[in-house]
Amino acid sequence: MTTALAAAQAAHQELAALGLKLNLQRGQPSGADFDLSDGLLSAVAPGATTQDGLDLRNYPGGVAGLPSARALFGRYLGLDAANVVVWNNSSLELQGLVLGFALLHGVRSSQRGWVHERPRMVVTTPGYDRHFELLTTLGFELVTVAMQADGPDVDAIAAAASDPAVKGVLFVPTYSNPGGETISPAKAAQLASLDAAAPDFTIFADDAYRAHHLGEPAATVEFVGLCAAAGHPDRAFVFGSTSKVTYASGGLGFVGSSVDNIAWLTRYLAAQSIGPNKVEQARHVRFLEGYPGGLDGLMRAHAALIAPKFAVVDEVLGAELGTDGAYATWTTPRGGYFSSLFTTEPVAARVVELANAAGVSLTPAGATYPGGKDPENRNIRLAPTRPPVVEVRTAMRVAAACVRLATEEYRAGLA
Ligand code: PLP
Repeated sequence: MTTALAAAQAAHQELAALGLKLNLQRGQPSGADFDLSDGLLSAVAPGATTQDGLDLRNYPGGVAGLPSARALFGRYLGLDAANVVVWNNSSLELQGLVLGFALLHGVRSSQRGWVHERPRMVVTTPGYDRHFELLTTLGFELVTVAMQADGPDVDAIAAAASDPAVKGVLFVPTYSNPGGETISPAKAAQLASLDAAAPDFTIFADDAYRAHHLGEPAATVEFVGLCAAAGHPDRAFVFGSTSKVTYASGGLGFVGSSVDNIAWLTRYLAAQSIGPNKVEQARHVRFLEGYPGGLDGLMRAHAALIAPKFAVVDEVLGAELGTDGAYATWTTPRGGYFSSLFTTEPVAARVVELANAAGVSLTPAGATYPGGKDPENRNIRLAPTRPPVVEVRTAMRVAAACVRLATEEYRAGLA
């Protein structure tokens, strides 16, 4: 046995003996983040039951959402209220609804529902497991392209889009899950003007982390206007939610697009709902507009809680693994909820196994690839937002020890 392997085993055993029980699996806000939004609970008081001239207790109000909520989340997306539908508590559900309507009826420029064409959808890897699950459950075949430091590999998307069965791309444009990458303005413009074989090629931008800066804000792109300027006015749907602004699953999902696409969408939404939950929308508007500094002020308060956790991830991994890539490399996001670690050797699954054995639960290896299979077995998503900083520090020490041990095992021919 090599000295390096023996040392790595001893370090792992020492940490495993601590009897830890830490969870860095899913990207969830912490209790302290939720506390910031508790004003929501009293934002609609008895008696205050009208907003925008509407009785919040009754049906009338329209299927696109409360006008003040459309205006607020329009500003969030860089769009007018008329370009926005504010729906219920989940942007993922809204993505499923839009994709489902496209499958059944086609989008505005389609000849027929996509379901008749064995549709394919481009996704980025590493990426978000729930996107893969949603698309495959709906029957899309996935085409993967790499997520690069400045956004998706748009040349690869263009190559894929020469196939008319490729109906679009679903990805995270700002502070991506899991690597934290933000699409550059140049790549966004390239995507907006891309020459696709399918006339109904559509950009589904899941902008879940648009306002989730950790420090200086990254330059965010506005796809609806970019696509219109490129001669494709109906090409983009941009999604967002308050799941990591106020309460996770206890807030609002919304979507921005062209006015014609909003009419297309609300026609189908209206067939299945008289309208979204206006009480939830009203209290979000009142709470967010009343927060010191508004929504941006709230996001700065979140950043004050979350940025130190990301700093600890970077600090501990750098101290324990070095920054020369001998064991691993990792992203240092400027926003969002995740960092993405790549082991140098193909040992990600073993790292997660060793971490579990030491009481630290990491996102399962492979989760960032379709079907849960990372072809290189190298990527691990790190989700440091929920535990307190001290726990993130301990969990990162364990993760680093596991990377070392798994790497030394592999190099000693034990794997
Ligand atoms: N989109 C991305 C990229 C996410 O990372 C998440 C949650 O982790 C979601 C959507 C879920 O959003 P919602 O709660 O609005 O469905």
